[in-house]
Amino acid sequence: MISVEEAQKIILAEIRRIGTERVPLGPSLGRTLAEEIASPLDHPPWDTSAMDGYAVRGSDTAGASPGAPRTLKIIEEIPAGTMPQKTVQPGEASKIMTGAPLPEGADAVVKVEETERSGDQVRIFEAAEEGDFIRKKGEAVRTGDLILKKGIRIRPADIAMMASIGRSVVPVYQQPRVAILSTGDELADLDEPRGPNKILNSNGYGLAAQVIEAGGVPIVLGIAKDTPGDLRAKLKQGLHADFILASGGVSMGDYDFVRDVLAELGAEMKFWKVAMKPGQPLAFGVIAGKPAFGLPGNPVSAMVSFEQFVRPALLKTAGRDDLLRPILHATLEEEVRKHPGKRHFMRAIVSVQNGEYRVRTTGDQDSHILLSLVKANALMILSEEGDRVQAGEKVAVQLLSDLLVAGN
Ligand code: AMP
Ligand code: MG
Repeated sequence: MISVEEAQKIILAEIRRIGTERVPLGPSLGRTLAEEIASPLDHPPWDTSAMDGYAVRGSDTAGASPGAPRTLKIIEEIPAGTMPQKTVQPGEASKIMTGAPLPEGADAVVKVEETERSGDQVRIFEAAEEGDFIRKKGEAVRTGDLILKKGIRIRPADIAMMASIGRSVVPVYQQPRVAILSTGDELADLDEPRGPNKILNSNGYGLAAQVIEAGGVPIVLGIAKDTPGDLRAKLKQGLHADFILASGGVSMGDYDFVRDVLAELGAEMKFWKVAMKPGQPLAFGVIAGKPAFGLPGNPVSAMVSFEQFVRPALLKTAGRDDLLRPILHATLEEEVRKHPGKRHFMRAIVSVQNGEYRVRTTGDQDSHILLSLVKANALMILSEEGDRVQAGEKVAVQLLSDLLVAGN
């Protein structure tokens, strides 16, 4: 049996980058940037005012105070979106709005709150230093500056940044297509009539959702019977995709044929079991360059195994640099027992109390109990060694969600 790290290493070594495509800026949200982006322009494009007020020559306002104001002549009004026409000469000022270009001659802006206008005269109550309330040309970004790195997941701020430099089309990695097959004679799909001997196919839906969250496109192949013939026929359909995922049928049972059928279809099987809980059975192989995973059938095992092995592989193929979920360290609130020799991924709730991360399990950790995954916002990772961890110890926690909820 190999360790979680060994399994991840073997899998990631087989993963190749997918191709790239160009998409409009808005829909690039959440995609992975395929080229670095440099700015083709200066921003702001000119010196601009950071305030509503008066563009002045700072020297004209020297010594100004409420008791001893300086009076200047207003020569122009410059709303945002208008280029100034006049040069500010000694004794003059131009009224200016936030974001408007600074007129020639002016070297400072006085806030409107520090002034009083009467007709074409303005009284200035505060001395302005050269550069006051001016945003310099190119201060936010300069022509040629690298603004976004290749391999990042595009976020709203990145979209705004690209818009600010005129990028309307964005190079991104393609989204890997992932064929998903559920296996088991006992399975029925949601919309089909079912007898009392059936259970509902939850893995097909859960895995498809995980694929979407990891930036892939699920191709749902439905349910295969536990026969080599049906498995072969359905898995063959998956060969059109970039990745193949099957769940169930990879253990030691009499009807567990997934590994054999993958091998028969030409998969070079790389390993079968990983020292972890939940999720020990995990078949991984490569068919015609395509990664194929036989995930365990139990619903929690399938999803936890996806998190540790399939998600990083999908991110790598789609060009991402950060393949693993963030890990933080939290204080364990209760003693937990474990099996020696296996890495445990326990469904858990992380909360913040008095500025410190704390973690507790969500209850029964049996691998068919989905509700304890539903309640979790994290997986608590316990190392292979030992059979228990004491309350008060620090443990590693893998965040499954961006939200740190107080727990329920
Ligand atoms: P297996 O590995 O095929 O023996 O499956 C292990 C357990 O997971 C069995 O109790 C199965 O009924 C259950 N299981 C397998 N596939 C699914 C699925 N697609 N949805 C829900 N439960 C499943
Ligand atoms: Mg089965």
